[in-house]
Amino acid sequence: MSAAGGGGSGGSAPGRGARARSGGTGRRGGRTGRGSTTGRRRRGDSATGADGVTGAGTTTGAGATTGGGPGSDPVAPSGGSTDAGRAEALMERARRVTPGGVNSPVRAFKSVGGTPRFISSAEGAFLEDVDGTRYLDFVGSWGVMLLGHGHPAVRSALAEALVRGTSFGTPTEGEVLLAEAIVEAVPSIDVVRMVNSGTEATASAIRLARAATERDLVVKFRGGYHGHADAFLVEAGSGAATLGVPSSPGVPAGAAADTLVAEYNDLDSVAAHLADHPAAVAAVIVEPVAGNMGCVPPVPGFLEGLRTLCSDAGALLVFDEVMSGFRVARGGAQARYGVTPDLTTLGKVIGGGLPVGAYGGREDLMRLVAPDGPVYQAGTLSGNPLAVAAGLATLRILGEEPELYDHLEVLGRAFDQGFTELARRTGVPMRWNRVGAMGSLFFSDAPVVDWPSAAAASRERFVALFQGLLARGIHLPPSPFEAWFWSVAHTEEHVRRTLEAAEEVVGAEAFPGE
Ligand code: PLP
Repeated sequence: MSAAGGGGSGGSAPGRGARARSGGTGRRGGRTGRGSTTGRRRRGDSATGADGVTGAGTTTGAGATTGGGPGSDPVAPSGGSTDAGRAEALMERARRVTPGGVNSPVRAFKSVGGTPRFISSAEGAFLEDVDGTRYLDFVGSWGVMLLGHGHPAVRSALAEALVRGTSFGTPTEGEVLLAEAIVEAVPSIDVVRMVNSGTEATASAIRLARAATERDLVVKFRGGYHGHADAFLVEAGSGAATLGVPSSPGVPAGAAADTLVAEYNDLDSVAAHLADHPAAVAAVIVEPVAGNMGCVPPVPGFLEGLRTLCSDAGALLVFDEVMSGFRVARGGAQARYGVTPDLTTLGKVIGGGLPVGAYGGREDLMRLVAPDGPVYQAGTLSGNPLAVAAGLATLRILGEEPELYDHLEVLGRAFDQGFTELARRTGVPMRWNRVGAMGSLFFSDAPVVDWPSAAAASRERFVALFQGLLARGIHLPPSPFEAWFWSVAHTEEHVRRTLEAAEEVVGAEAFPGE
């Protein structure tokens, strides 16, 4: 990778603390990078080329760089690290006191090997670890950080909320405002209930669907993830038509038996379940854009077909938009594809980086929830003032600056084009799937449309790409079955350099062969 377009705030030690910590308002434009193109100064960049957020990637002219030694660019080969440094010691301590050393399994790097980076801070599009190494971040807290890290408006909303108090257990104005913001943005939601995680949202939505239909069965899709409630920890048995079996010890057979598993993008597999269990299926729950087998978009007609099948069978259609909500469009996948579910679950983006979830939908259904109705669901910290403040600040910005979605789309198209060209130039078979600001690269020569085709892609090649990019200061999600997430703080320059780094890795002699 050439150094062109690199450089940054300058003068920092290689790969260490290169980030300038300015929080001034002038940098917002620089962070969003809206309309920025390679070689053009981005709005809000200072005359010296210092980018308060990235400390790198600021271009001052046609590929010229400003300041900074060769190591000051965290996206340059020297910016990353193969040496986990302090992380090794921390991981060892963590393993002693925490299962696998982590608080959520995929963070443990099991599928890619090595030691996870322990992050000490993040800003804009970048993470910084305890060893002072900076990474261009495509994890985005697993899809949460759509505005990037440390957005000034979210920070000040949090600071103000903190002064007022962290939890009251009684209603607040902020909860009303956030509920109104969600209802306004998401087409199918008339009434919404806040919870604390995506897992809680989906579990609650399914309880409501069962209560509303007075039925027990739920259809989910193979490779779909809806949190870790018992009913969802189920994968297909030997055939899509079989009743589910638990995919985790501890899930009672009874809970799993009420979950039917269908194949994503295969309407016939859903129709077969509905036909086999007439008037018994309460709900079909789907990630309208699958993100947990890697990013797999719905094929044309799939979501519409689900809508029809559910309506005909008297089952509710539940869109799990915990990941896609406010990410693939402001109104989520339902707005992007124009299909209206009965219930929707949300999480991630709507908490602005704090723990949150929500479920909502048609008024007649949501009025069944306690205390309006008999379906019990509660939470000590639900509607927590800090989470609500961060979420509301986030949703306000997304509402007030619709052009941010254009920017996310520009970045997405740069990836689309880049990976198409990369495949052509290197001859390595790969498929890049993307919707809005989420995408995944599969090393496969066949289209990836469902779990079997996702699972058939080369994991070995993904691991090589992951490690190669990490060593170059670019942090992908550590699994081939996760989506990459970018934010409004990412720039076209970041994408370009990611593609250059990917080409170095994929084009190298050492890259695994067929
Ligand atoms: N649903 C989807 C589509 C998800 O991607 C996730 C988490 O990644 C969840 C539900 C669970 O959310 P949480 O991890 O907040 O419990």
